Amino acid sequence: MTQEIGGFAALDLHPNVLAAVIATGYEEPSAIQIQAIPVILAGHDMIGQAQTGTGKTAAFALPILSRIDPAKRQPQALILAPTRELALQVATAFETYAKQMPGVNVIAVYGGAPMGPQLKAIRNGAQIVVATPGRLVDHLRRDEKVLSTIQHLVLDEADEMLKLGFMDDLEVIFKAMPESRQTVLFSATLPHSIRAIAEKHLRDPKHVKIETKTQTVTAIEQVHLMVHADQKHAAVLRLLEVEEFDALIGFVRTKQATLDLAAALEAKGYKAAALNGDIAQNQRERVIESLKDGRLDIVIATDVAARGLDVPRITHVMNVDMPYDPESYVHRIGRTGRAGRTGRALLLVTPRERRMLQVIERVTGQKVGEVKLPDAKQVLDARIKKLTNSLAPLVADAEASHGELLDRLTADIGCSPRALAAALLRKATNGQALTLTEVERDQPLVPGSSGGPRERSERTERPDREGSRERRAPVPLSEGKARCRTALGARDGIAAKNLLGAILNEGDLAREDIGRIQVRESFSLVELPEEGLDRLLGKLKDTRVGGKPLKLRRYRED
Ligand code: ADP
Ligand code: MG
Repeated sequence: MTQEIGGFAALDLHPNVLAAVIATGYEEPSAIQIQAIPVILAGHDMIGQAQTGTGKTAAFALPILSRIDPAKRQPQALILAPTRELALQVATAFETYAKQMPGVNVIAVYGGAPMGPQLKAIRNGAQIVVATPGRLVDHLRRDEKVLSTIQHLVLDEADEMLKLGFMDDLEVIFKAMPESRQTVLFSATLPHSIRAIAEKHLRDPKHVKIETKTQTVTAIEQVHLMVHADQKHAAVLRLLEVEEFDALIGFVRTKQATLDLAAALEAKGYKAAALNGDIAQNQRERVIESLKDGRLDIVIATDVAARGLDVPRITHVMNVDMPYDPESYVHRIGRTGRAGRTGRALLLVTPRERRMLQVIERVTGQKVGEVKLPDAKQVLDARIKKLTNSLAPLVADAEASHGELLDRLTADIGCSPRALAAALLRKATNGQALTLTEVERDQPLVPGSSGGPRERSERTERPDREGSRERRAPVPLSEGKARCRTALGARDGIAAKNLLGAILNEGDLAREDIGRIQVRESFSLVELPEEGLDRLLGKLKDTRVGGKPLKLRRYRED
């Protein structure tokens, strides 16, 4: 026991901070904590570079709490975080580590909540202020003195703050603080813009860098699946059948895609929700809470909305859309395998993206092995296994509680116990396919092994073709035309004539300019003139059909 806490005890933290850390159950400081804590305690400016999940919050929170004066009731430390979620996470961490420090108060300051109470809490002497830059600047406009007593400044996820366009706000904030303050900057990457900020606003900073591909990556099993772009939903549904996950986060590139996929999953009975920057802040927070406590099992997110999310239940990360660069891949998969747990990362790769897969393998220094789409037999086995697992624990004492009822029902109905059990099973499984032929009929997407990924047969594509489910060859593109996609489809009540009408009207086109229109369940494809396409799409930017935004985009077929 003493040996376990030795690591933290050796760090010279304030005794009350040390006591709180031990109470959290942390055994050893992480690499970034070992290196950063002494530097920050000594009062140096610092640049810390480490990937997600390495324990950066405690790396700055513990030394800062050790250095503030609880008797002084004024803001002493300011932590800037890119989003409200992260600000709240950091504030909660500070509260945990300050549990044994009476008189220390933490206030989180972010947009979307009333300003009055926030400003009041700051003036009432919260020593730790955790804020998003935008809202903090609003406060500065009301009271330019709010930050005049800050002695420690931390920029958490600095690269992300710049990506979100907070550069100008940061400059305003820097100016509002005493120059004698200590400044600590944490960032996963150090692009030029970050170095420029460090140059300008940090004094003689010490550099602390934890190399990537540490524990986070090694604790995660990574695999990829080759798939065509328009089969992704079907592939995700199929994979989920066989993956044994507790909670899963899926990454897509666009806000619309978060909504589309989350809806498809919900329709299949999964407890799923979307997480993107358009969703109101408090709703986003609810989504994360629900994922934590099990009311949700799947969240489909964009990179920015999920940045820094820390939900220990997450066992799986699914890269439904390829990340833009290897760094974001490492960030994404860092959502699982947190703090020593193991996790699994799945990556869907379309043929055009093979090169990116190689880059990811090179950067992470690991092979990302290939898996095939599970076939009907595997899906069936997985379903039966789930059923077995859910029933097995009930068998032990069900007869005692329900045996008599069973006797009475079989007598009343005049059937065998086997017949009754079968009826109950049918009811309990809600008509889910549980024989091989049924599953095969139910799952028309043929895995790479037989039909090859060329076969287009996303289940939901054609509501009008129930029984006959004909095989659809890719439709060849008309000459001089480009294919464009909208997320509006049959399920939005859209028909081809609605699309045609809207595009003709607002695009100033002649009927013959518009080629084939294919309306599917969850999206539609429209052929438009290749020439001047960008201008046309610009013109149609705000077009709505059936009350919903059309958002036509060029569609690349793989
Ligand atoms: P980062 O900011 O680098 O992404 P966090 O500070 O959010 O990482 O920490 C990731 C997770 O690891 C959190 O759940 C945190 O409670 C946990 N953690 C941090 N330090 C330790 C430690 N020394 N031992 C065990 N768990 C830790
Ligand atoms: Mg963090």
